[in-house]
Amino acid sequence: MSDKIDKKEILKLKNVYHTYKQDSQKVKVLNNVSLEVLSGEMVALIGPSGTGKSTLLNIAGLLETPTSGTVEVLSQDCVNISENMKTSIRGKEVGFIFQSHRLFQEFSAIENVMLPQLIMGVTKKNAEDKSKDLLCALGLEKRLLFRPAKLSGGEAQRVAIARSLANSPNIILADEPTGNLDPISAKNVYNILYKLIKALGIGCLIATHNIELANIMDRCITLENGSLKY
Ligand code: ADP
Ligand code: MG
Repeated sequence: MSDKIDKKEILKLKNVYHTYKQDSQKVKVLNNVSLEVLSGEMVALIGPSGTGKSTLLNIAGLLETPTSGTVEVLSQDCVNISENMKTSIRGKEVGFIFQSHRLFQEFSAIENVMLPQLIMGVTKKNAEDKSKDLLCALGLEKRLLFRPAKLSGGEAQRVAIARSLANSPNIILADEPTGNLDPISAKNVYNILYKLIKALGIGCLIATHNIELANIMDRCITLENGSLKY
């Protein structure tokens, strides 16, 4: 209980509805979704394909504006704010991890982790030091100068985790991050991410099809046809 009192609300979605307009058709995707992610908490988001998991993560990450409802990051309203403010909050507070690593092939592992920092105005030296620290924490000290094509799937995904943490975000949003990995690499990547989330005391929401992994997270949220199932 005292554990819970110490935790702060990193992400809060309240009564979120989302409808896509496709040509003249309306596609209702999210139907009154409310959820919270606390600091140091790793929450699984599960549900069949097409049920709205990626849409929910995009809304939580301020990449998409919900048709209605509220999104708060660190108790700040993130719906009724300018696009510039959204971009700034996204850059500072949100880290994304996708199913495929989406690293830049022409850059090395360390350069891929430096890039988001350089974009935020961090000096090259500081970005390099931070990237090295992160990659070492992820067991990649011998892969700093490797390009993505020379990395295994699990290693590339660990670089993507380092990149997601590069600007010290408060929340990590991961969309099926272990979906392309074999079971052993998936568990390894998950374990590293879990330890980092706990050590850094940040929040993490992970869409996953992997029920075994979902069951060892702190909490599991099921989305079915756009609604949360309890
Ligand atoms: P999931 O990640 O659970 O597989 P998605 O959030 O990707 O689900 O998609 C939910 C539904 O929304 C699907 O029916 C999909 O076709 C639809 N959808 C997703 N993105 C768009 C879009 N940009 N325009 C129209 N429909 C979309
Ligand atoms: Mg998806």
